[in-house]
This record gives sequence, structure tokens and C-alpha cells, in this order.
Amino acid sequence: MDTDVIVVGAGPAGSTAAREIASRGARVLLLDRAKFPRDKPCGGGVTVRCAALLPFSIEPIVEDVVSAARLTVGEGREIVRTTKAPLTYMTQRRRLDAFLVERAQIDGVEFRDGQHVTEVLRLRDGTYTVTAGGETHRARVLIGADGANGIVGNRLGYDGITNGAVALEGNIRFPDGVPPRFRSQVSLHFGDMPGGYGWVFPKGDHVNVGVGGWRSVAGDRLRPALRALCLRYGLDPDSVEGLRGHTLPMQRPGMTIAAMGSAVIGDAAGLVDPLSGEGIYAALASGIAVAPAAHAYLDGSASSLAGYQAAVRRELMPEIEASTALMDIFHTAPGPFVWLMQHSGKFWEGACRLIRGETSYDALTYTLGPPMHAMLGPAAFAGRFITSKRLAKAGAK
Ligand SMILES: Cc1cc2nc3c(=O)[nH]c(=O)nc-3n(C[C@H](O)[C@H](O)[C@H](O)COP(=O)(O)OP(=O)(O)OC[C@H]3O[C@@H](n4cnc5c(N)ncnc54)[C@H](O)[C@@H]3O)c2cc1C
Repeated sequence: MDTDVIVVGAGPAGSTAAREIASRGARVLLLDRAKFPRDKPCGGGVTVRCAALLPFSIEPIVEDVVSAARLTVGEGREIVRTTKAPLTYMTQRRRLDAFLVERAQIDGVEFRDGQHVTEVLRLRDGTYTVTAGGETHRARVLIGADGANGIVGNRLGYDGITNGAVALEGNIRFPDGVPPRFRSQVSLHFGDMPGGYGWVFPKGDHVNVGVGGWRSVAGDRLRPALRALCLRYGLDPDSVEGLRGHTLPMQRPGMTIAAMGSAVIGDAAGLVDPLSGEGIYAALASGIAVAPAAHAYLDGSASSLAGYQAAVRRELMPEIEASTALMDIFHTAPGPFVWLMQHSGKFWEGACRLIRGETSYDALTYTLGPPMHAMLGPAAFAGRFITSKRLAKAGAK
């Protein structure tokens, strides 16, 4: 056996799973097709609840800290809401992902970049082989952290995920510094793109602008919507650099995400939050949850990685289901929701507490009143407060 565990994909999910497994004493090989540092289509917003899942600070790669939101719906009035404590850390994916890989290497992970995995097999003895760059590696555990439509899930026969949403983003440079009107706040515009929103995120020397929405309706509308968004905020649409589009993968109900000695995590498991499009949180959370299950499989105390699937079902899915329910209502009529965010202190603070991980979707829906709370059904009631300790414990069961 070359190694105990192979992780394919070194995004936040893969590097976190690799680090968590290696820190339990196993040999881990982490492969990525890209040469690091590499960028990828992403707003680079790391919520406080997301950063709190890591056992170290991401401060060295944070370019701005957001504690305010500028909110608009359609042609409606713009309202700025602020809060005392930070909500989201702004970074660039090339920096975040390289930083997380470095931390994994410190904990003993062997990382190889520029390794495009082209073949994945499960052998008769239950081990796995992975071929990349003409070399074949063998391990007892294989984890697919290779994003939406990754090769691991595909070759091992996992259900496909749904690419239900799409987004388009790019950067506008400000070599002399980001204008004060964008600093330390996110600008969010609703109502133009069904199933999504437009954003301006502040970074060190640029702003990231993007629009997202349901794939079924977004199609040709993304580019004009991005132009309109830039003009709305007084930005030059022709100065957008590095324009890139990508899908946001969502789980199919009842989808299998672990079988025998293998599992899929992060985007490969379709764990993006449907309402916000936040995916780094679930990437880290699933990377943490898979580690104890892999460890139990390696030491013979579990016959598969099913503990990971159960942990996700118990800890993450209730939030994703509540978010889906809320999204269905929100995108039918975004106006009243944004109005609440703009005008109700209770609702705005509820949303802030959610982003900071101090509460669940449950609390947010409750502030909408008991009828709305009841309408969202059991999913809303099941939402929970998640911590890395809780995830690791759940994965070990
Ligand atoms: C436009 C856009 C904006 C977004 N903004 C945000 C945001 O601000 N905040 C947030 O939380 N989420 C955001 N998301 C979602 C977030 O980007 C993803 O959910 C997150 O990247 C998932 O991490 P991951 O590790 O699962 O997968 P990825 O980050 O996609 O990593 C997968 C890795 O696998 C590698 N790989 C793939 N195939 C192979 C192969 N065959 N061989 C070897 N390596 C392979 C890739 O090179 C890649 O490095 C956004 C998404 C989009 C599309």
C-alpha cells in the first residue's frame, strides 16, 4: 500500500479532510490537478461561523473584515445595516487554499500538485487505486474532494449532484486602494436574478463583483446582469478582469455520499447552502466529519465510512434543508425578506448571528413569526448549532 488515505482535490474540503486525518496518525496523500497557488471562481467570503471550524486563525490571509451590508431590491432604496462584531472575512481563494494546504502539510500530509487524476478503481480486495500523471497510487481509503462533477464520485458510481445554480464573477482593480464606500461591507442586490443575487465584495486591492441565480433561468442573463450591477454601484463594467462562471452543486435528496472505504465531501457531495451560495463552510465541515469515520475504518472498528454519511445527515442536512425551504419562499418574493433585513433590528441581528454561527436557521425563521416558522416545517425546527467538536464526534459514531 502506498499510503493509508488518498484525497483527490485540494480545495478547502480536501485539505481539511487530509489535515484532520493525518493529525490522527494516518498517512495521507493529497492530489490536485492544478499547480498551487491556484485561483478558482469564488467570492472568497469566509463567514465567521466557517472560520470558527478551523483550529487555527486565517488572519494571515484576510484582506478585509466585513461587519456591514448595503442592501437593495430592484429599484428600491438602498439601506446600509451595520453590526458590532465581524460577519465575514474576505480573502482570495488562491491565498486561502494554499494556506489550508500548508497547514495540512505541517500536520504530515504529503501534497502533490499538478496531478490530474484520470483513473480511479476499486480493487477486489477493497483497496483503491488512483492514476495521475502516469503514476498509480494505492490506498485503503479514497476521498473525493474534487468539486462539482469530480472524477472520484463519477468512477465509483455515486449519484450525480444537481447543478441547480450558476454564478459569474470577476475582479475590478483599485491599485490605490478600494474606495471607502466598499470597504468593510458587502453590497448585495436582490430581485433581478431569480434564485440568486448580485454582490460586491471588498478585497485588499480590488473588489469582487458577481451575480448568481437558478441555472434554468440564468443562462444568457448573467452577463447583462453583471454589467447592470457594476453600473448600479458606479463601477466600470468594462474594467472587470478574469470573468469566470461556475455551477453551484446541490445535493439530491437521499444521495449517497459514503460507501465502503470511500466518501465524497464538499462540492463533490453537493453541500452548498442553497440560500446564500456559501460552500466553504460545508467544505470544511464535511472534511472534519469524514476524518473520524476514515480513522475508524482504518483501525478496523468500522466496516465502512457510513459514519460520515450519518454525521452529515444529522448535523449538516437539517441546516441545508431549512435553507432550501427558506430559499423557496425568499425567491418567490425577495422584497419582504430584504425589507425585514433593512428595517427589522430583530431580523437583521438574527441573520448576523446565523452568519457568525451563534444560532441556526431556526432562530431566523422564528423571527418571521410563528406562522412562517410553522410553514417552514420540521426542517426549520431541526436546524442546529454546529461546532467542529460536534462534527468530529458525530463522524466517529
Ligand atoms: C462564483 C462563485 C462564488 C462563490 N462564492 C463563495 C463565497 O464567497 N463563499 C463561500 O463560502 N462559497 C462560495 N462559493 C462556493 C465555493 O466556491 C465552493 O463551495 C467551494 O470551493 C467548495 O470547496 P471544495 O473543496 O469542495 O471544492 P473546490 O474548491 O472546487 O476544490 C476542488 C479541487 O479539486 C481539484 N480537482 C478536480 N478534479 C480533479 C482531478 N481529476 N484530479 C485532481 N484534482 C482535481 C480542483 O483543481 C480543485 O482544486 C462560490 C461559488 C461560485 C461558483
